[in-house]
Amino acid sequence: MTHSTDTISALKSGPKTEKGVTYCPNCESGTLEAFYEVKSIPVHSVLLMPSRDHALGYPQRDLKLGFCSSCGFISNMVFDPTVHEYSTSCEESQGFSPTFTAFARSLAERWVEEYDLKGKTALEIGCGKGEFLAMMVESGMAKGIGIDPAYIPERLDTPAADKLEFIQDLYDERYTELKADAVCCRHTLEHISPTSAFMRMVSQNIGEQTETVLLFELPDVYRVLKEAAFWDIYYEHCSYFTTGSLARLFRRHGFRPVELDLEYDKQYITIAGYPDGGQPSPLIEGEDDLATVTAEVKRFKEKFQKLRSDWISKVDAFKAEGKRTVVWGGGSKAVSFLTTLGLKDQIDFVVDINPHKHGKFIPGTGHEVRDPETLRVEKPDCVILMNPVYEKEVSEQLAGMGLSPVILPV
Ligand SMILES: [Zn+2]
Repeated sequence: MTHSTDTISALKSGPKTEKGVTYCPNCESGTLEAFYEVKSIPVHSVLLMPSRDHALGYPQRDLKLGFCSSCGFISNMVFDPTVHEYSTSCEESQGFSPTFTAFARSLAERWVEEYDLKGKTALEIGCGKGEFLAMMVESGMAKGIGIDPAYIPERLDTPAADKLEFIQDLYDERYTELKADAVCCRHTLEHISPTSAFMRMVSQNIGEQTETVLLFELPDVYRVLKEAAFWDIYYEHCSYFTTGSLARLFRRHGFRPVELDLEYDKQYITIAGYPDGGQPSPLIEGEDDLATVTAEVKRFKEKFQKLRSDWISKVDAFKAEGKRTVVWGGGSKAVSFLTTLGLKDQIDFVVDINPHKHGKFIPGTGHEVRDPETLRVEKPDCVILMNPVYEKEVSEQLAGMGLSPVILPV
């Protein structure tokens, strides 16, 4: 959902292949072994298209996930960072959903409280539109510095505006002068292919500040593997972590994890860590997961194939009965769900509560994104819900329109 694929243009380079061996860019010692492949998916799934033609003609690339059995990291082995376009047209913000906003606010409050950050300074790498950084400051921090090429000033409405500073740029070694008590990085690391190089740069920029806390949040791939949640795998995400592989990355770069949690219906990992000063420390809960993750990777392909054929049979059957199916949620999950399954006229259109997405089209399949209000007239028989965490919110909204379609959460 972030853009900070950019952070990465600066760091360019995917997994390095040498004599047929693909080295792991996360531990720089293991090798990646392929276990899941999808051909021709849109290179971007957060940029919606202005017309159906643009959407259908949007650049596509292959995705091939490889697993490193040394560190547990998963990476798109054929990722090409040069295909990404970054600009302020990036519609990555989830800030329009009340559920997501409430989650982000409680996370900001918790982090400020637990890491004693009142009156202190936060730096957010890949801050998007700056909503989260504003919440950190509204929760008591004295100052927030956000850095992101996709930052748009006029979109942020916060009482903390005078304590916020934004830099519309990529974060790299030029920014070592930006000192902070907390370095946040949310939904960004998954866009970075050379994760070890990125963490090395962050660690060097922090330098000797042993009190600085690193606060990261990113998708958990263990759930994706276990549920074969293929809609959570898409081109922008070249790097996939579990709690254990993320903690191991922190430790390799001199950070001692003190928090390793699953949040937001267990979809996201939150991790906090301090510079370890070269001292060893005991493992915390969630770190020791390499064996279980390896087992799930082995089972993934079979689970995915079954799930894919189940979904296709379901939507084909609705179509054959003359029923109308729509998808709720016009974000990356919908793009991946529709393109991975190769769905076309089985789905009428997509709805999303974000008004900035209305009238745009899904790259790859060309489905239109509309205002959920149009469902009053279109009266769908079935709503495929891209994020189960919104089930209550969506069913209430549908009931409020006098509608009672079958709701199928992914
Ligand atoms: Zn590795």
